[in-house]
Amino acid sequence: MDVPTNPIVIKTTPQDTVAIVANPQGLPRGTTLPDGIVLSEDIPMGHKVALTDLAAGDAVLRYGHVIGYANTPVKRGSWVNEFTISLPPPPPLDEIPYTPPPVVAADPLEGYTFEGYRNADGTVGTKNVLGITTSVQCVAGITDYICQLIRRELLPRYPNVDDVVGFTHSYGCGIAIDAPAAIVPIRTIRNIAQNPNFGGEIMIIGLGCEKLRPERLLPDTGNSGSSILYLQDESLEGFGDMVDEILTLAEKHLQKLNQRRRTTCPASDLVVGMQCGGSDAFSGLTGNPVSGFAADLIVRAGGTVFFSEVTEVRDAIHLLVPRAADATVAQALKDEMAWYDNYLMQGRADRSANTTPGNKGGGLSNIVEKALGSVAKSGTSPIVDVVSPGDKIRKKGLNFVATPASDFVCGTLQLAAGMNLHVFITGRGTPYGLNMVPVIKVSSNTRLSQRWHDLIDFDAGPVAFGLKTIDESGWDLFRLILDIASGRKQVATDKIGLYNDLVLFNPGPLT
Ligand code: CA
Repeated sequence: MDVPTNPIVIKTTPQDTVAIVANPQGLPRGTTLPDGIVLSEDIPMGHKVALTDLAAGDAVLRYGHVIGYANTPVKRGSWVNEFTISLPPPPPLDEIPYTPPPVVAADPLEGYTFEGYRNADGTVGTKNVLGITTSVQCVAGITDYICQLIRRELLPRYPNVDDVVGFTHSYGCGIAIDAPAAIVPIRTIRNIAQNPNFGGEIMIIGLGCEKLRPERLLPDTGNSGSSILYLQDESLEGFGDMVDEILTLAEKHLQKLNQRRRTTCPASDLVVGMQCGGSDAFSGLTGNPVSGFAADLIVRAGGTVFFSEVTEVRDAIHLLVPRAADATVAQALKDEMAWYDNYLMQGRADRSANTTPGNKGGGLSNIVEKALGSVAKSGTSPIVDVVSPGDKIRKKGLNFVATPASDFVCGTLQLAAGMNLHVFITGRGTPYGLNMVPVIKVSSNTRLSQRWHDLIDFDAGPVAFGLKTIDESGWDLFRLILDIASGRKQVATDKIGLYNDLVLFNPGPLT
């Protein structure tokens, strides 16, 4: 794609008092913008230029909303950044009005399908993976050892199985298991074991003396076909016996998984988790709105999409509450925000702890600006349900799955919610990859997708220059989602085999 070389700044609404420099090399001091503004200093790509003179205390508007207040007089044409804007207070939760939105029947989208693995419980997998769940950190070493052995020695005999994944973590013992917050990591592990890509074949390795009993990780629907092995079982003599016993169990599950075949499934069986990480000022202009458009298409097709990251929606919650399908959902949204406000407060922090040096380097001055761009990935559909951390989704449509914004904690909780495909939007770049579900990485700017040509799956950057519309790019992403879900195409991290560890969210105490 040829990026235009003439000066380009992007203003989202007519009220905005700042615009974003789109040119990949930034714009030098003295540049005259199309509307006659002359830049009084160099402004890097993604950063903001003042479109009007601002007095100290004046609101700075982007996306038509206040992202902060000038803390010093700012002249038209100068650089507006985290040093010249002060952070406004978050929207007060008890003052957000709610009236149920008018029920508008979504324009249904029919005829879109993908090739997936249908499970007995009705869910659909996009990969065929043997998942080995663990109840405690003590067994992580042997689980990694076993996974390598299975990959090397067993998988060649089960050609329909894509991979084996050991779900190891640091939870399970040395924990206050009866503390109310312990339910979060426990249900996260239990629900991940039931991820659609594992095909209902649940295999758990425990030690034997841990607080988290492996039986608690079995589904409520019963444990037929599930298997648990304790390393401390007295029939096992040494490491060799443990390995043999685990391999025997694994083979039983592999035989069943090997019989799975892809069948044509409606797009309504998609469960797509959306997350951003390493965001920049383009994320809210390109990557997130494009993903939001694709989210609307999935919802129109009867499928499920969720967005997450509490600290990145907190400052836009007044825009989300009115989209709640009913008063219960509106309240649940506010409750999740309040829970997190309190969680941060206990650690003597607030939502401003979110925004990294990289976010700021990419032009995002503060959490308000970041949140206003972040929520664009939710599209425009009504929010039908709110899912607490570690819980599974209950309804099709657009869900809010409450999670921290930390990439791997969010991804882990989205896996627990039941996602079978992940869309990850990035501006600064991250080699993020998960081994349980395909992760489509969307770049917010073309400079990144060109530099990281073998790590980025989809470039939303052309939208910034009007070379593609959000709709066109959103349709392209939707089609890519169907291809990836079908196994017709592979995401970059699956081609390379590049995967991050999962990270549990444990708000409870250790002992
Ligand atoms: Ca994130």
